[in-house]
Amino acid sequence: MNGSTVFDYELFIIGGGSGGVRAARRGAARGARVALAECARMGGTCVNVGCIPKKIYSYAAHYAESFQDARGYGWRLPQAPALDWEALKTARAKEISRLNGIYENLLAGVARFAGRARLLDAHTVEIAAPDGSTTQARAQRILIATGGTPFVPDFEGRELAITSNDIFDLPTFPRRLLVAGGGYIGCEMASIFNGLGAQVTLAYRGEQILRGFDDEIRAHIAAQLQAHGVSIRLHSDIVKIMQKENVLQVQLSDGETVEADAVLSATGRRPNLDGLGLEQLGVKLTKGGAIEVDEHFESSVSGIYAIGDVVGRKALTPVALAEAMTLVDALFGAAEGKTPRHMDYDNIPSAVFTHPPIGTVGLTEEQARKGGRAIRVYRSEFRPLVHTISGSSERTLMKLIVDDATDRVIGLHMAGPDAAEITQGFAVAMKAGATKAQFDATIGIHPSSAEEFVTMRDVARR
Ligand code: NDP
Repeated sequence: MNGSTVFDYELFIIGGGSGGVRAARRGAARGARVALAECARMGGTCVNVGCIPKKIYSYAAHYAESFQDARGYGWRLPQAPALDWEALKTARAKEISRLNGIYENLLAGVARFAGRARLLDAHTVEIAAPDGSTTQARAQRILIATGGTPFVPDFEGRELAITSNDIFDLPTFPRRLLVAGGGYIGCEMASIFNGLGAQVTLAYRGEQILRGFDDEIRAHIAAQLQAHGVSIRLHSDIVKIMQKENVLQVQLSDGETVEADAVLSATGRRPNLDGLGLEQLGVKLTKGGAIEVDEHFESSVSGIYAIGDVVGRKALTPVALAEAMTLVDALFGAAEGKTPRHMDYDNIPSAVFTHPPIGTVGLTEEQARKGGRAIRVYRSEFRPLVHTISGSSERTLMKLIVDDATDRVIGLHMAGPDAAEITQGFAVAMKAGATKAQFDATIGIHPSSAEEFVTMRDVARR
């Protein structure tokens, strides 16, 4: 078959999450005939059960700290504040519905299929609607943007564990929560539910939470979480969950049995490929089960593309958005007056919304040292001004890693209030290749925590 005229669409996208919707909008804006199939609510993980509800609950949890801190500033609360879990869930659900609607509206100009899609061949998609009816569409190119799904390891009573898909809507607030996993989701949820008033135990199999982050930041944040009341059990994993009336008894590999009202398995995510029919088409997967793509996001089967979590390069919404825009530019040309985007995975900033949050961009100290590179490490650890009076013992840690040969700042890490907001700005400087001398020449904003990044004069170690 030759030429796009025989196809219904030039691009058929499966998945209405961050990556899929962005590709659809941008593709349609370039004048391409685009269709998108989604079997659930629009917006994918980020909008429905990820970034957005997580941040909403994080804000909710921060109030607990603020009520506490306010006392040091002379505020007297008439009574102990209490969380209305139903009210929080309702407010969240309302906001998410509003966002679902916005995402639907963004797709004006895109043919929309509500149903589960599978590939019959490299150019034919079959969509099964909720009422059981099926439709077929022919497309010149197919883009898989189906995201990821929580992975729960095998253990006895596995079905009693919940995942991040369930936690936002638990019927009753879990007074005692056991979290398994010490990654982004485990640490964020442990912090958030601790703030909301739950007694939280975090069980992690390794020797320190947040593997892959800067070691000093990991130790610092573990200490802060513990100071806030999270019980962290290292070298510990779930062996078995037993239901005893209304209580879950969780047997851990460290020999302890912990009682909980809910057990959250936050043990990673896997690409969402079930039922897509990729095996029959011979689409190659990576060892981790993600779709293998080349630098143009094309899979091993010509005309089938993939972006976002299903590709598994960096499971972050802004990365999926950037991949979508890069792909659309490559397929349909850049927007007028713009040069085509190129995907660059260096210096991607990210944040972990623990309490306090972590912000990070560039290399960790451990990564920077690899290969014997000469580096300088600058660090500043302090009690933020807000807590000199609040009574909170929370401390902030900020670090810069500088390459000796070039003087460039190659790593920037922070654990403290507003870390995400601060790191985003500094990520621009790092992307531009800023040197330590340029950091030093920048005037600080006083009083702020961020100014520490431009006033670190003494080398902590080499
Ligand atoms: P992560 O990979 O971050 O963490 C998974 C955790 O589970 C790790 O501590 C890991 O341990 C542990 N684990 C994995 N397999 C097992 C197992 N079989 N038994 C016991 N423990 C296990 O995954 P998350 O699910 O937390 O998050 C997925 C991704 O989503 C993140 O990597 C991130 O890209 C993205 N995300 C980003 C957020 C943000 O930007 N703020 C927030 C939430 C998610 P070990 O380290 O030892 O392998």
